[in-house]
Amino acid sequence: MKAAVLREVGQPLQIEEVSIGKPGPREVLIRTKAAGVCHSDLHFVEGSYPHPLPAVLGHESAGIVEAVGSEVRTVKVGDHVITCLSAYCGHCEVCLTGHMSLCVSPETKRAKGEEPRLFREDLSGSGDTKMAQFLNLSSFAEQMLVHEHACVAIRRDMPFDRAALIGCSVMTGVGAVIHTSGVRPGETVAVIGCGGVGLATINGAAMAGAGRIIAIDRIPSKLELARQFGATDVIDASEDPVKQVQELTGGGVHHSFEAIGLKVTAEQAFKMLRRGGTANIIGMIPVGTMIELHGPDFLGEKKIQGSFMGSNRFPVDMPRLVDAYMAGKLKLDELISRRIRLEEVNSAFDELKRGELARSVIVFD
Ligand SMILES: [Zn+2]
Ligand SMILES: [Zn+2]
Repeated sequence: MKAAVLREVGQPLQIEEVSIGKPGPREVLIRTKAAGVCHSDLHFVEGSYPHPLPAVLGHESAGIVEAVGSEVRTVKVGDHVITCLSAYCGHCEVCLTGHMSLCVSPETKRAKGEEPRLFREDLSGSGDTKMAQFLNLSSFAEQMLVHEHACVAIRRDMPFDRAALIGCSVMTGVGAVIHTSGVRPGETVAVIGCGGVGLATINGAAMAGAGRIIAIDRIPSKLELARQFGATDVIDASEDPVKQVQELTGGGVHHSFEAIGLKVTAEQAFKMLRRGGTANIIGMIPVGTMIELHGPDFLGEKKIQGSFMGSNRFPVDMPRLVDAYMAGKLKLDELISRRIRLEEVNSAFDELKRGELARSVIVFD
């Protein structure tokens, strides 16, 4: 099958022929129909997060089940599915206490020594055919071989290109609001960064019934988009956003969400809280970066926490989000700025770097 491979940090992805294994007892082979190009892929291309290479990137996708292993119970051939990188075992402590997105059980991966899910022909004769799977998925490819607990079946009238977005950015943003921070009707929310995840966070805050939803970004077109997603106020980030938020809200917000991944904006997210408020760090802050907070602020019971993949319970959450889209409550059409072919993946990364567009989605025939 055709796949986009990262061979070296900082280099463009290469379109290559890659081989994919047959489903093991609990594995599912999926024909990829759509894959979003997410900012977190870019973090790995740029090397701010390390990953074994070569690897097939991509982790925000939807497709059709082509084959299932002998013990698979949750999906069947022909099912339309959304994938999720939060593969979970279902019986460890975090899974059983309702925090399955934190599961790190190795059993959802193939064991060392087993044939890998992805490999390549030994063209060089060196015997090295290793190809790393990315975040349990590797979606920039015509097919995916995943654990059955890395995908969920959805209704068939849901378009694949929009379903794919639910697989990462939308689950991440909406989940941060409803699961990680537990926003309640009437509370105030600030969202720093209005890319795909930030816009989904704003949408989630609107769905949760937040009173005031303040969108913060430097780019006017993104702030305009933020209004469409439910922002009640917008703030130009280049002019002291903390002060502006405090003025707008009379002292700060109940919940803030950092959706960029920078030290300065993470610190701003904490500073713009009212007493008792909670800051949620969604963005991927580069490895090695330290965050500084003013210690006495803890006397006001201000909290700061990470939010990873929206603290999801994706087999329940994603079909609900599909329903929300179908009911017109979840905005996905506006998130897609461009539909592209796999071969154009590098240009989508260039656009992400420039920060103009919300999101490109790769569509497969
Ligand atoms: Zn992502
Ligand atoms: Zn588990």
